[in-house]
Amino acid sequence: MRTNIFSFIVIALLSASQVFGQICWTKSNKPLSKEAQERYDYLYANPSVISIELINLDINELYTAKSMNINTNEQLVRVNKLKTNVRDNINNFDVVFADSENEVLLSVLGKDIQGNIHSPSASYSIQTLADGEYALLKVDADAMKEDVNDIIDEYEKNHTEELLSGGGILPPSPVAVTIKVIVAFTTAAANAVSNTTNYVNCRLLEMNQSLSNSSLSHITILSAYVYTTSYTAVNFTTDLNRFYGNNDGCMDDIHTKRLTYGGDVCVLMTTSTDLCGKAKAIAADENTAFCAVSPNIGCEMKYTFSHEIGHLVGCRHDTYVDNTSTPYAYGHGYVYLGSSSASSWRTMMAYDNKCTAAGYNCARINYWSYPNATYNGIAMGTTSTNNNRRVWYNRAQSVAGFAEKLLAGSVTPVLLNNRPKLSIQYRNNVLSININEITEELTLTIYDIWGNQIKTINLQHQNENIQLDNLQNGLYIATTKYNSQLFVVK
Ligand SMILES: [Zn+2]
Repeated sequence: MRTNIFSFIVIALLSASQVFGQICWTKSNKPLSKEAQERYDYLYANPSVISIELINLDINELYTAKSMNINTNEQLVRVNKLKTNVRDNINNFDVVFADSENEVLLSVLGKDIQGNIHSPSASYSIQTLADGEYALLKVDADAMKEDVNDIIDEYEKNHTEELLSGGGILPPSPVAVTIKVIVAFTTAAANAVSNTTNYVNCRLLEMNQSLSNSSLSHITILSAYVYTTSYTAVNFTTDLNRFYGNNDGCMDDIHTKRLTYGGDVCVLMTTSTDLCGKAKAIAADENTAFCAVSPNIGCEMKYTFSHEIGHLVGCRHDTYVDNTSTPYAYGHGYVYLGSSSASSWRTMMAYDNKCTAAGYNCARINYWSYPNATYNGIAMGTTSTNNNRRVWYNRAQSVAGFAEKLLAGSVTPVLLNNRPKLSIQYRNNVLSININEITEELTLTIYDIWGNQIKTINLQHQNENIQLDNLQNGLYIATTKYNSQLFVVK
């Protein structure tokens, strides 16, 4: 029997002036707007949601809070803030409160706030019901069942360069790596969340935190672009194959959008219910870096978004459910069985099967297996078999180059009567555009790798040289349409 009201959280915080006792959010007694009531009912119908409490949330206090008190097992635990990360302005930021056992990750975009609270005794979600109306949900992290068959293609031996580095000695100081993710929501998936952009921000916040938790802070996952595509979910295999497939009439826009916005990894958010997520391949290349994920809150609690991208990078499940030794014998998730469910846990790529066989239920933690790090004093992996961190270490740079590789391959002149009609060259800060004849209005747009529009130029002459001295060093993408064909150059 689910209860509608429960008392969970008291937020007290140290403000900038070190005053203890400010309240970050309180129970709300205000009647819900019609829009909020509809979302409340939608969330309440989800079997993963145990109960819902309406709350007032103060965004400014969230921003300035130095710590947060959360109620775990009827005990108030103070969790310190690790960081406030402002994305581009004061209305677009995320916060991380964490200690060795508790993690609170919240993302704010305008009035939309989304995030999850993981503690050993329970999982909670903060959701926006409507503009300025918020709820705290108690979530059953085990309601959504996992299936070990969440990969379409088995590993194919086509990554020899990374296999070589996998067997070698890791460089002592890694270079900073940025992997850009492009996320498509089906219409139903977009309707399942309060704000698609902030939803992705929130998943990337969790994922970047998992990398930071596992000494992989040199890797950053960024959002290249978020959009909604018209498609009706069938099941995960069909949805993902259609997302991945080109010229099949289903979601084909991903392929041009990926080139336009520079997406290394493509994620489809879909409301199919047979799984929480599915990846196209283990250790994907630039052509197979596609996965599909459910926006269900129960799946969020298992970090499915990060898990599926982990497969694309080359990570495998724990050996109880998958003992395949390619591409990396050491690339498995890790399960730790303690003396009870509460003291047992599993890393990002590990399943619950080994725990269930032992009569336990193990929560998935926001860490990648790694023998050199500990969780409550226990090593989180082994050198020979359970070191997903090393897989990330080996492959992150290759994955971060997927979009660039595709773009390099896409620079082919448009041919009409066997003569190139349009060409773009970039040399010494000058972008040269040559057009044999101008038959239509032409606009060239330059984007940065985050999809921000940097410059738009109307092309009026057959030969144009555009000086780009004022751009910072980095990867940019110039696109134009000519004779109804998209033309892209990096
Ligand atoms: Zn999996």
